[in-house]
Amino acid sequence: MSDVVSPPSPAAINPADTGTEATTTTATTTGVELYGARRDVVVVRVDGELWDLDREIPAGHKVEPVTVGEPDGLAVLRHSAAHVLAQAVQQVNPDAKLGIGPPVTDGFYYDFDVETPFTPEDLKALDKIMGRIIKEGQTFRRRVVTEDEARAELANEPYKLELIGLKGGSGDADGAEDNGENVEVGGAELTIYDNVRGAGRETEAVVWSDLCRGPHLPNTRLIGNGVQLMRSAAAYWRGSEKNPMLQRVYGTAWPTKDELKAHLERLAEAERRDHRRIGAEMDLFSFHDEVGSGLPLFHPKGGVIKRVMEDYVRQRHIEEGFSYVGTPHITKDGLFHTSGHLPYYSDTMFPEMDLEGSKYRLKAMNCPMHNLIFASRGRSYRELPLRLFEFGSVYRYEKSGVVQGLTRVRGLTQDDSHSYVTPEQAPSEVKHLLDFMLSVLRDFGLDDFYLELSTRDDSKPDKFVGSDEDWAAATKILEEVGRETGLELVADPGGAAFYGPKISVQAKDAIGRTWQMGTVQYDFNQPKGFGLEYTAADGTRQQPVMIHSAKFGSIERFMGVLIEHYAGAFPAWLAPVQVKLVPVAEAFDDYVKDVAAQLTARGVRVELDLSDDRFGKKIRNASKEKVPFTLIAGGEDVEAGAVSFRFRDGTQENGVPVADAVERIVAAVAERSQQA
Ligand SMILES: [Zn+2]
Ligand SMILES: [Zn+2]
Repeated sequence: MSDVVSPPSPAAINPADTGTEATTTTATTTGVELYGARRDVVVVRVDGELWDLDREIPAGHKVEPVTVGEPDGLAVLRHSAAHVLAQAVQQVNPDAKLGIGPPVTDGFYYDFDVETPFTPEDLKALDKIMGRIIKEGQTFRRRVVTEDEARAELANEPYKLELIGLKGGSGDADGAEDNGENVEVGGAELTIYDNVRGAGRETEAVVWSDLCRGPHLPNTRLIGNGVQLMRSAAAYWRGSEKNPMLQRVYGTAWPTKDELKAHLERLAEAERRDHRRIGAEMDLFSFHDEVGSGLPLFHPKGGVIKRVMEDYVRQRHIEEGFSYVGTPHITKDGLFHTSGHLPYYSDTMFPEMDLEGSKYRLKAMNCPMHNLIFASRGRSYRELPLRLFEFGSVYRYEKSGVVQGLTRVRGLTQDDSHSYVTPEQAPSEVKHLLDFMLSVLRDFGLDDFYLELSTRDDSKPDKFVGSDEDWAAATKILEEVGRETGLELVADPGGAAFYGPKISVQAKDAIGRTWQMGTVQYDFNQPKGFGLEYTAADGTRQQPVMIHSAKFGSIERFMGVLIEHYAGAFPAWLAPVQVKLVPVAEAFDDYVKDVAAQLTARGVRVELDLSDDRFGKKIRNASKEKVPFTLIAGGEDVEAGAVSFRFRDGTQENGVPVADAVERIVAAVAERSQQA
C-alpha cells in the first residue's frame, strides 16, 4: 500500500512532533494525541485502515497521519461533506429517507428517497444550510452499535435497514469508491456517527445521526468553504431498475475555496471545448436517430479534417515501412474463434447474422484478416518485419449509456497496423512503433505524454491466454522499451488484452486532461492460433511475433480529442477552411477572387465572403468560424498589390504583397505550424 518509513523509536510520542510520519504505539493513544498539532492531518491510518482522529488506538499498532492533501484524506473530507448534505436535506424535509453517500471523483453524492426531485433552487438553499452546519463546528462522534440497536434506531430509514441486513462486508477500505454501500456498513462492526453540537459542554446535543463505517473529519468546521452542490439526478437504489428510484445529489468538495474555484473553472473550460458543441457550431458532424447511437455522419467540413488526418497518417505509415492493405467490414464468425476474440469479446461485438447457412459478424478488429494476408503465401525471414496497415472500420457494441459524441462510438475507423517480426526483432520493432506514434502525436500539437504498461491479472488466468514465460518475456520487452523513451511509465496491472501485454500513450491536452491515445500490443497468441510461420535462415519453420499498433487509436475519437484540445481553432494544416477572403467593399470583389485563385492553385482551402453583410459582420463571422487566416483587401491593398492579414487573436498585419502572403500561408500549412 502506501510507503511506510521506518518507525521512529517507540514511546517517543510527542503531541507537538510534526516531523513524525509513521509510528508504532506502545500505549493506548489517539490520533489527536499523536498529530493533533497538525491542522492538515484529518484521519490516521491504523495498520492500513483509516480511523477517526479521536478513536482510541491500543498499543502495538502502526499509525500514520493522513493529510487532506492525499487521496485518502481528500475522500474523508468529501464523505464528511456528504453527511452535512444529508443533515441539511433532512432539516428541510424530515421525511426524506437516506440512501448512501460515498465520496467520488472530485466530490461526493448522497441518495435520497423524496417525493419530488430537487430543483436548482433547492440545491442553492441546501448549499446555504450546509454552510451553516459547517460553520457551527459539529463534532462527528463514533458509536459502536449492535445490529438490534441499529435496527431500533433506524426504524424509519428503510434503506439503511436493508444495508444492515447486508453487513458482513470484507472491511476492505479500498472498496469505498467502487461500492458506495461499503461506506455505510463495510467495517468490522456496525457504527453510527452522531453529529454533536457544543460537544463537551453541558448543553451538548446530538443534532443528527447516520449509520456509517466512517471515518470522518473530527469536526464539520474542517470541511471549510470549498464545497458546492452541483446537480441532482435520478438513480435506482443499489443500481438496479427493480428497486425504487431515488434522487442523487452531487457535490464537489476541496480543501480550499481557491481549489473549488479552480475546479469550477476547469469544468467551464471543458464545457466550452466540448467537441459535440463545437462540432455542431462548426458544421463538422452529426448523429441521427435514423442511423443509430454512436454512428457519426461527417459533414463536408468534418470530412476535410478526417481526410487530412487520414492522408497524413497513411503517408507516414508508408514512410515507416508499412504496406497499405484493405479488408471488408464483415466476416464469417469462425475467423474470430480462430483469433480467440470469440468468446472473450462476444459481448462487445454486434450480434451475428445468418447468411446462406453461415454466421457472419460485423468486424470488431482487423487482426484476423491481416493474419490471413500474412498466411496467403510462404514467408521468408528476409521479408520480416512485414508490416500491414489499413483504415479498419470496426463496429463495437457500447452500451447506449456510455456512447458519447465522437470519443465513445459504435462505428469507428482504426489506423490499425500489424508488424510480423522474428522474436529477435520484436524489441526494436516495439521501439520503432513507439517513436513513430509519439512523432505522430507531436505533429498534432500533443507533446505532454506518459506511458501506461498494461499487464496480465495473475489472479484471473482464465481471462488471458499463453504461458507464464511468454507473458513475462513480452512484458519485459515492453517495459524496457518504455523506459528507454525517458517518459514516465505507469503500471496498469490487469489491463492487458487476453493475447498479450500492451503499452499505451497517455497524452495531456491543452487544459491538462489526459486522454489514452495509441497502443502497442505484443501478441504471441494469434500467430499460434492462425498457424503463422516463416522460413528462418537455417531453413526451419518458425512462428513470428505479431505486434498490434494504432497511432491515433481511432480517427473518430482522435478528432474528438483534437477538437477539444484546439477548442475548434485548428492549426492551418488541419483547418477545414484555411483562408477566408473578405473584400472591404464590392468594388474589390474581383481582386479578392484573383487572390483566391492563386491560393487555390497552391492547394489552399479558401472561402470568399462576397455576401451583402457589412464588413464588420464578415470579420466577426470569420472569427466565429475560427479560420486561421482572414485576408482583407481594400483600396490601399489593391493599389499596392497587397492584402491585409487578420489573425484569430484579433491582431492585424497590413499591406503584405500578395505573392508573400501566398507563400506564408503555403509554408504554414506545409510545416504543420501550430501557430496558425
Ligand atoms: Zn460517513
Ligand atoms: Zn490487431
